[in-house]
Amino acid sequence: MPDCIFCKIIAGEIPSSKVYEDEHVFAFRDIEPQAPIHIIIVPKEHIESIADITPDNSHIAAKCLEAAAKIADGEGLANGYRVVTNSGPDGGQSVFHLHFHLLGGRTFGQVC
Ligand code: AMP
Ligand code: ZN
Repeated sequence: MPDCIFCKIIAGEIPSSKVYEDEHVFAFRDIEPQAPIHIIIVPKEHIESIADITPDNSHIAAKCLEAAAKIADGEGLANGYRVVTNSGPDGGQSVFHLHFHLLGGRTFGQVC
């Protein structure tokens, strides 16, 4: 996607603080961290949001969650962490390339 900031990060056209990469997934530190550890995990394939997950591409979202657990382990988050994805304007999504926020290093309250 030519105008997608996360596609550009994956392609190395915009610098990022990369923490993980495999065949399907790329992860980097958030530029405006909301927790001591705040990592953005994205599929390499451009999928706009969780609303665009289908039976054909759901394995890619699963790969992102597998990566989240692996990264959390590597970051020493044995006591727990939060994984969040925002979808659409009402969900607070600002970058329209599916991503999961991995947040850790502090305690989070209940969401609902
Ligand atoms: P969301 O609001 O859920 O769409 O999350 C987008 C996230 O991407 C925000 O937490 C931003 O701080 C983060 N972000 C935007 N641009 C960059 C960038 N160039 N490098 C790292 N994180 C970014
Ligand atoms: Zn993209």
